[in-house]
Amino acid sequence: MTPLDSLGRPLHDLRISVTDRCNFRCVYCMPKEVFGKGYQFLPRDQILSFEEIERLVRIFVALGVEKVRLTGGEPTLRRDLEVLVAKLAAIGDLDLTLTTNGSLLAEKARGLKDAGLKRVTVSLDSLDDAVFRSMNDVDFPVAKVLAGIEAAQAVGLGPIKINMVTKRGLNEASVLPMARYFKGTGWTLRFIEFMDVGHSNGWRLDDVVPAKEIVAAIDREMPLEPVDKDYRGEVADRYRYKDGGGEIGVIASVTQPFCADCTRARLSADGSLYTCLFATRGTDLRALVRDGSTDDEIAAKIAAVWTGRDDRYSELRSAQTEGLHKIEMSFIGG
Ligand code: SAM
Ligand code: SF4
Ligand code: SF4
Repeated sequence: MTPLDSLGRPLHDLRISVTDRCNFRCVYCMPKEVFGKGYQFLPRDQILSFEEIERLVRIFVALGVEKVRLTGGEPTLRRDLEVLVAKLAAIGDLDLTLTTNGSLLAEKARGLKDAGLKRVTVSLDSLDDAVFRSMNDVDFPVAKVLAGIEAAQAVGLGPIKINMVTKRGLNEASVLPMARYFKGTGWTLRFIEFMDVGHSNGWRLDDVVPAKEIVAAIDREMPLEPVDKDYRGEVADRYRYKDGGGEIGVIASVTQPFCADCTRARLSADGSLYTCLFATRGTDLRALVRDGSTDDEIAAKIAAVWTGRDDRYSELRSAQTEGLHKIEMSFIGG
C-alpha cells in the first residue's frame, strides 16, 4: 500500500546518495572553503553496503516507489557501482537512473548500461571552458563532460537530460549557447534555479536567475511553447521549440515552488531518510537495517515517517527558514 503524506502526496520516487564524496568542488554545492582538505567525509563503516541499499529499495518498492535515482556526491566515484545497479535492476520494473557530473561517464557508461541502468542525467553548467572550470573549481574541462554524454548516448543511456544550475553573475551568459548547442540533439536541457540547500554555499536570493527570465531569453531567439507535465511530481516545467527542435525544462524551485506535488524521498549515503531536500533532520534507517529489524518493521517505520510528512519548505521559504541548519546538497543528493 502506497502511503500518503499529510498533504495527500504519495511516496513515488526515491533518490539514493551512494557517496558523500565528489571530485568536483562546484561553488554552489561543495565550496572549497568548506569542503577543503580537512573536511571529514563519512567513514566507510557508516556508509550503507550494496546489500543494505538493495534491501531498503525492495522495501521502498513494496511501498509504491517506482523511480529510483542514484546520486551523491558523485555516484560514479562509488567503487563497483555497476554491481549495485545490477542488484537494483533485478528488483523489477523500476525506472532506474543516475545523476552525474559526467567526469567518469566515458569510461563507465557501457558497464552501467549492461548492468541495467536506464538513463542518465548529466550536470553541465556552461560550454565555456573558463566559466565551467571556475564553477567546478577543480579545473575540469567541458570537453570531457561532453565526451561522457556522447558515450552515454552511444550505449543507449538516453534520452539524456542535462542539468544546468544558473547563478547570477557566474553563468547567465552561458544560457543561450547551451540552449543552441542542445537544441535538436534529442537531449533535454534543464535549467535549475540556484537553491539555498545546505548552509555553506552562501546563497542569496539575488543570486537566483528566475526561470521565467531564462525562458523569455530563449523564447526571444528560439520560440517556445509550454508542454503539459508527464506525471504528478515531475519537477520541471517543460517547453518545446515551436520549430520541432526538442524540449527544454526549468526547475523553478525558488520562484515557483512545486511542493504540492513533491512525491520524493531521499536516502543519504549513511542510511538516513529525508522527506525534503531542505530537511534539518533525517530518520536513521541504517540502525534498523543493522539491528535485526524485519522488513515489515522497517516498512512500518518508513510508512509512519511518510504519513507524518508535511514538508513544503520552498513554499514557506522566508527569512526564518534561511537560517535553519539544513543538510548539504552533496550529502542528501540533489
Ligand atoms: N554529482 C552529481 C551531479 O553533479 O550531477 C550528482 C549530485 S548533485 C548534488 C545533483 C544535482 O544537484 C546536480 O544537477 C547539481 O547541479 C544540483 N545542485 C547542486 N547544488 C545545487 C544548488 N545549490 N542549487 C541547485 N542545484 C544544485
Ligand atoms: Fe559534486 Fe555534483 Fe555537488 Fe558538483 S553538484 S560538487 S559535481 S555533488
Ligand atoms: Fe519537495 Fe521539500 Fe523541495 Fe518542497 S522544498 S519540493 S517538499 S523537497
